[in-house]
Amino acid sequence: MKEIEESSSKVRYIFVTGGVASSLGKGIAVASLGNLLESRGFKVALMKMDPYINVDPGTMSPFQHGEVYVTRDGAETDLDLGYYNRYTNSKLTRLNSVSTGQIYEAVIKRERRGDYLGRTVQVIPHITNEIKNRIYRVGNHDMDVDFVIIEIGGTVGDIESVPFLEAIRQFRQDQGRNHVIYVHLTLVPTISAAGEPKTKPTQHSVKELLKLGIQPNILICRTQNVLPRELKSKISLFCNVLEEDVISSVDVEHSIYEAPLMYRSEKFDERILFHFGFTPETMPALKDDSWDRIVKRILEPRRSITIAVAGKYVSLQDAYRSVYEGLMHGGIAHQVEVHFLKIDSENIQAENLDEIFHDVDGILVPGGFGERGVDGKLLSIQYARENQVPYFGICLGLQTAVIEFFRNVIGLKEAHSTEFAPETPHPVITMLENQVSITDFGGTMRLGEYPCTLREGTLVHKAYQDTHILERHRHRYELNSQYVEQMEANGLIVAGRYMEGDLVEIVELKDHPWFVGTQFHPEFISKPTNPHPLFRDFIGAAVAYAEAKALPGKGKKSREIVKESKETKSNS
Ligand code: GLN
Repeated sequence: MKEIEESSSKVRYIFVTGGVASSLGKGIAVASLGNLLESRGFKVALMKMDPYINVDPGTMSPFQHGEVYVTRDGAETDLDLGYYNRYTNSKLTRLNSVSTGQIYEAVIKRERRGDYLGRTVQVIPHITNEIKNRIYRVGNHDMDVDFVIIEIGGTVGDIESVPFLEAIRQFRQDQGRNHVIYVHLTLVPTISAAGEPKTKPTQHSVKELLKLGIQPNILICRTQNVLPRELKSKISLFCNVLEEDVISSVDVEHSIYEAPLMYRSEKFDERILFHFGFTPETMPALKDDSWDRIVKRILEPRRSITIAVAGKYVSLQDAYRSVYEGLMHGGIAHQVEVHFLKIDSENIQAENLDEIFHDVDGILVPGGFGERGVDGKLLSIQYARENQVPYFGICLGLQTAVIEFFRNVIGLKEAHSTEFAPETPHPVITMLENQVSITDFGGTMRLGEYPCTLREGTLVHKAYQDTHILERHRHRYELNSQYVEQMEANGLIVAGRYMEGDLVEIVELKDHPWFVGTQFHPEFISKPTNPHPLFRDFIGAAVAYAEAKALPGKGKKSREIVKESKETKSNS
């Protein structure tokens, strides 16, 4: 067994650590750097190393972790990979998300096999070698890569990140200073009583890193306002970095997609290239300004619309991160600003439906697990269906749309998913056959990319302009095929199927402007530069709905007519 893999000599490695506090926007800083390097024509790979013991975040509650981002090859990964996907074109697979759990799992497996030939297995070198190998593997995976940017999760000073920091310290010894640099992201807080930004926490954080043998080359300082020269020079003096290498990171004003431009104006990418030996003469100029154009579009919306997102975890910023961003991308496509009405589905009742939804232009029910809040989701869907409000259901949002339809249109009042009511007489949603005997939770769902064939003449066919698509999954349940005929006969049709497994992947409602449910998660592949067709068309339908509502008297009236005709239909 080769203990350490070799690196292609061309690849350069950028390690990004964080200090002082969590939630300083390290993921966005890393994604922005990738974006800036790509816009100068470089090829980048990005990876996240998480010091927790879980093998992956798939088993963690959204309260602990936020969203789980699913890669094409079915890995359940950190949500920062979602940022990497949205800001860059880098390839993301299970190689790009590493945790302590994975590292130990691999080393222990090898130890049990006897691969270590009687030696004592230790943090140094065995764990650190495994960490380094994971990084080399990303650099070697794609031969064209110029830079690998590695984000180390957690905060310097945490006990559990020490092996990772030791591994990245060794990395520079192995590869040489021309190939490895360190970026450290810290906080420069402004204490309101003092009224000025304070550099001490940054100094301490850099000292922590120095204790571990790492001298950062560049400091990114999260601050309220761009740091004045004197402060940069103070940080430079105490932290042993050049003044030009103290980068301010301020809150962007309107959109998170402004972050790369903010970092560019602080010359973050130029300083990175400087450390790898580029001079102003050899530094490639900006080749691709598509991101600048996207931001310009975002900053000049022609109108705004409101989308209600009815889920269980709306109080958390990150639980539906990619969904919110997918909706924003739909907004970019139509040059509209998308406002969110985030509603905890547990608080939705028949009595307050009109009050909650009367001003929204579209309703979305995102994915989820467990029964809590399902009744509120069913009511939201019924409201969207009966009032012709554009509806987009994702995963559980498809499953609940099917349940609602069977209960309220077909009249099977006890229709349910066996996830929530195992004994239901009408199991319209049931567990995938190959899931039944699985006992382990981690990594055992139907995960990753599957092909789907679209039915011609449907809304989704119109959206994709294609009959064969690839989309990512993360679920255990599906539409029960025994109910499909009855469902279609009543107007909820199958618009997409996974042919090989004969699974329903998309449903859509006839006689409704835009009502689509997908068993897959389109949010994982949407980008601001390439909005997903379903988010684009959902937002398009919401804009049309908003515009119709604005016509004097018209919107309301047509909605009432539709409501009446539906009632007549279901009474007959
Ligand atoms: N709980 C449902 C299932 O496992 C839906 C999952 C999801 O929305 N991601 O099938």
